[in-house]
Amino acid sequence: MSARVPQRIVVLGATGSIGQSTLDVIARHPDRYQVYALAALRQIDLLETQIDQFQPAFVAVVDPLAAETLRTRLLARGVSTEVLTGADALNTLAQHPDVDTVMAAIVGAAGLPSALAAAEAGKRVLLANKEALVMAGPVFMDAVRRSGALLLPIDSEHNAIFQSLPADYRGEPDQHGVTHIVLTASGGPFRGCDRTQLTDVTPAQAISHPKWSMGPKISVDSATLMNKGLEVIEAHFLFGLSADRIQVVVHPQSTIHSLVQYVDGSVLAELGDPDMRTPIAHALAWPERIASGVGMLDLVACGHFDFSQPDTEAFPCLALAFEALARGGSAPAVLNAANEVAVAAFLDEKITFLAIPEIIRKTLDAIPDTTLTDLTSVLAVDAQARECAESLVAASA
Ligand code: NAD
Ligand code: MG
Repeated sequence: MSARVPQRIVVLGATGSIGQSTLDVIARHPDRYQVYALAALRQIDLLETQIDQFQPAFVAVVDPLAAETLRTRLLARGVSTEVLTGADALNTLAQHPDVDTVMAAIVGAAGLPSALAAAEAGKRVLLANKEALVMAGPVFMDAVRRSGALLLPIDSEHNAIFQSLPADYRGEPDQHGVTHIVLTASGGPFRGCDRTQLTDVTPAQAISHPKWSMGPKISVDSATLMNKGLEVIEAHFLFGLSADRIQVVVHPQSTIHSLVQYVDGSVLAELGDPDMRTPIAHALAWPERIASGVGMLDLVACGHFDFSQPDTEAFPCLALAFEALARGGSAPAVLNAANEVAVAAFLDEKITFLAIPEIIRKTLDAIPDTTLTDLTSVLAVDAQARECAESLVAASA
């Protein structure tokens, strides 16, 4: 039997929730995967542990001071991993000729340039960073088509849909008899609350998700239902479905990760315990299957599944996302930027939970729509929307 050549992988956002889960899966399969590089903003203690375990050729630390500290520490211990710094280092690694696969798991708009760089370089792109597609959907998908990159969704809903679509699906639902997709939502920690009950909720309450363990930004997005809104836009670009063919249903058990409805009445879905190592392992190995460390689903222990309509009265962010998708052009990028600013301000206790959708609403109203043609135009509208949202935060603080 010939020895397998391991896939060489860059993990962008290695210290985050997705990054750590990715390394957990990789560690189970040393014959298949080799960590070529790790990247993070500044969490060098954790990075150092990861470097010792995976011995990558490179590590990128965006914060220059943290990079310098790590470089000194590694040199003192005789560790040969080379430390790069600055945001450009992320692009360099994402496009490196020795790299096969890029896990794009940086949170927020900061992850767009490197995810796009990987797509432009024709890599196998494991996309966790949903904000990249929300901000730059047409530009990103165009880069994938042109380069022949393989784009594999990590977001559990999109991964479930990918698994439930035919293998030769290329964004043409009618050709494959696909009528709708259904994204499931856990409903977050405040499911069932009305607006009055949401007045005083704290960041600590918002980030304690009932089903998934995630970074702080996506946890707040789950609490506002903006996460589902971003996922609707993500699904639109990934699967070529118009907004009226994307449904959202609240499913508190988070066992059914999403569904595809076909013209003959069939509904296909992917189920499993809510653990991101399943979609990560799926995308790492696709079209093969590997163990992820996630246990087998026990349907009898599940007992029953519940479904309900999302409450867009209490959680207007979902409706705002549908609105931005209908407007098209730069509106999803504006929505994303305003949301990132508002969520950061909420986490800093500068604004209330209910102010998040208000700031997004006002920013969407203030910024005129433009067409997105390339990364520069996306970053320009992102900056414009951030400035507007920041001034709204300042005014409401
Ligand atoms: P996290 O906050 O746990 O980790 C974020 C990572 O990004 C860290 O490694 C951090 O160092 C890095 N980072 C942050 N700012 C950076 C910058 N300016 N430059 C370079 N690196 C930077 O986030 P997470 O929960 O792992 O989420 C990562 C992405 O995956 C998000 O886009 C999120 O929406 C998506 N996602 C996460 C989950 C989940 O279960 N956590 C599920 C689906 C999708
Ligand atoms: Mg998701």
